Amino acid sequence: MSDIIHPVHLVGAGPGDPDLLTVKALRLLRDAEVVVYDRLVSEAILDLIPEGTTRVFVGKASRNHVMPQEQINETLANIARGGRRVVRLKGGDPLVFGRGSEEAMHLTEQGIQFELVPGITAASACTAYAGIPLTHRGLAKSVRFVTGHAQAGKPLDLNWDSLADPDTTLVIYMGLTNVDMISKQLITAGLDPATPACAIQNGTLPDQRTLLTTLGEIPDCVADMNIKAPTILVIGSVVGLAEDLGWLNPAEPCDMEKQA
Ligand code: SAH
Repeated sequence: MSDIIHPVHLVGAGPGDPDLLTVKALRLLRDAEVVVYDRLVSEAILDLIPEGTTRVFVGKASRNHVMPQEQINETLANIARGGRRVVRLKGGDPLVFGRGSEEAMHLTEQGIQFELVPGITAASACTAYAGIPLTHRGLAKSVRFVTGHAQAGKPLDLNWDSLADPDTTLVIYMGLTNVDMISKQLITAGLDPATPACAIQNGTLPDQRTLLTTLGEIPDCVADMNIKAPTILVIGSVVGLAEDLGWLNPAEPCDMEKQA
């Protein structure tokens, strides 16, 4: 065992397009001896890790954790204690629904230093690639990043009244499973069912899909169009701009009557 313990770098990889890695993330990846990564880190980004660097996959899927969080925490601490330079690479930003702070807390408890390196979060990147501004004069004065994930067997415990604001853009992470409830609750809380909404799948990757619909129809839209994770849901007037500003792949209208 080496006497030197290097700080663990908790690094955001961005949502998939390797060009969205920060310069700092790329430098750290090139210097790392071990990269601990999960499922959301794209193949194109993994290809940037030099040969000879040890890769440890601790992938996790919602409700189907390949490695429990406690074990990931322990793995990071153990590798760092062995004296190797560790990069913990996470999809998007490690501190936005990324549990990066839990890993940092564990390292602190173990007396191991760390650095937090932000990444571009899915809400920023996927919308930009779909031509949707998160704010726009006259359309949205604020943005909310919301988790649509509920613990197994529990209802989604969100403050629906505060979310149902027509001047706010809502970006919902991990929202596919509960899309029905999200749509119904927001409408019950007063948001117009005709509010523009979209689902962005595989954002920033060559196969990104942007499905344009409305708050009322988004549950049927994601079911009929066979939308799969990773997907964010975006709800708000700004979504209407995607038709003109979308540039990566054309946005697909999700018109139920036309599909039938
Ligand atoms: N820390 C990540 C979020 C992790 S939670 C970040 O900052 O982006 C996982 C959720 O993020 C997914 O269920 C999905 O809702 C969203 N997500 C991450 N990458 C995505 C992508 N490329 N396209 C669409 N949604 C994505």
